[in-house]
Amino acid sequence: MPIAFDNSYARLPDHFFARVAPTPGRAPRLIRLNRPLAEALGLDPAELTEALLAGNSVPTGAEPIALAYAGHQFGNFVPQLGDGRAVLLGELVDPTGRRFDLQLKGAGRTPFSRMGDGRAALGPVLREYVVSEAMAALGIPTTRALAATLTGEGVMRETILPGAVLARVAASHIRVGTFQFFAARGDEAALRALADHAIQRHYPEAAGAERPALALLDAVITAQATLVARWLCVGFIHGVMNTDNMSIAGETIDYGPCAFLDAYDPAKHFSAIDQFGRYAFGNQPRIAQWNLTRLAEALLPLIDTDQTRAIALAEATLAGFPTRFEAAYHEGLRRKLGLATARPEDIDLISALFAAMAANQVDYTAFFRALGSGDGAGARALFIDPTAFDGWAEGWRARLALEDGAGRAERMRTANPMIIPRNHRIEALIRAAVEEEDFGPFEAMLAATADPYADRPEFAAYAAPPALEERVHQTFC
Ligand code: AMP
Ligand code: MG
Ligand code: MG
Repeated sequence: MPIAFDNSYARLPDHFFARVAPTPGRAPRLIRLNRPLAEALGLDPAELTEALLAGNSVPTGAEPIALAYAGHQFGNFVPQLGDGRAVLLGELVDPTGRRFDLQLKGAGRTPFSRMGDGRAALGPVLREYVVSEAMAALGIPTTRALAATLTGEGVMRETILPGAVLARVAASHIRVGTFQFFAARGDEAALRALADHAIQRHYPEAAGAERPALALLDAVITAQATLVARWLCVGFIHGVMNTDNMSIAGETIDYGPCAFLDAYDPAKHFSAIDQFGRYAFGNQPRIAQWNLTRLAEALLPLIDTDQTRAIALAEATLAGFPTRFEAAYHEGLRRKLGLATARPEDIDLISALFAAMAANQVDYTAFFRALGSGDGAGARALFIDPTAFDGWAEGWRARLALEDGAGRAERMRTANPMIIPRNHRIEALIRAAVEEEDFGPFEAMLAATADPYADRPEFAAYAAPPALEERVHQTFC
């Protein structure tokens, strides 16, 4: 059955995008097709040919476009960004009625490429594939990886690297920066059309609100507050939380130099381009709020004709972010600690734990997993000074005693993954693929991260923190 595209974004006004076909690669070769995802989306794997996934043939019904957007990059506004190396083939509706984008990332130059080559190197494509699929398995909203394909061409970075295309699936590719693009141009009609489109697509209940644009802002605030809380609960560091990398649908998007915490450290940042740690682990909630403030500014003309009034309404709505974030974050941390009820003093228990973990360089993922299994000796052993754990654990056990412990071990298991895609293993699988065309470690990582909360002793090596010499200190996009 041919792919049944229904391209709503391509029906928006002309200046929302540029019509551009993907640039064929010289000798495409499929690395991996995500069959279970294809099937879940109602796509016939037989239709997803290597040529389609590499951008060498445009399927019937597709209307390839590159989307226009702007964005704040590391705090500086850039009025013109856009899909410089990605082409949206079109939209589809899955068997549950949900609409999704099918995009090819690394598919060649577009009118938004500026100085770039429109291509993606194999390493970042594999990283995005692995991490986005791992995030999905962890239950965190994210774009998905449908396929990775080699183009058969080299791309020039610091050295010549194999080029690749990631076929990506997203609820949409509308970003905070998409609203900024039109707001910066004073194009209120476009802003309204975009807001209507985003509401209809992602937050239909906002359409009936007294002020739909304000209701949209409110809904995006909730989506991003809960998203970032989920990131923190698994130690995820996005790495480039520019406003053009923040999805209106509330999915994790644009995996670049992302990473996971090894040892707990709120100031941890890996990205080579994040010199000052703007996007450090513990800064992510604040940055999300900063980005949402940029969204609010872009929406002001739609909120009220009286701009003073619009600002007051937007500010009141933005004020909901910290409480929503904290509610989601604390609820997530309570689950990690095995607490079924909430008490005000839990916050102190959490702060004391994080202070002790930071001082003792305790591996974040391994600690919580070990805390919920056995007698806690495994968790204790992760501290440089295990007596620091003892002091904290006394308070934790006293707190646990205040509630019914039925099913606690099981609850903790489902809150604390055994396996995350650890940085050093990602680097290793990229090296094997790039240097030796060995995709075995890539496949093995996908298998290991596919069921992260299960007890799978056969994947114990993937659960282990890096040895000192294995630690990754920097990531590149
Ligand atoms: P990113 O940091 O990947 O979110 O990208 C920021 C902006 O740079 C976006 O407009 C991208 O489309 C663009 N860009 C990144 N890499 C390339 C490339 N190789 N060629 C063209 N544009 C690119
Ligand atoms: Mg156009
Ligand atoms: Mg981006």
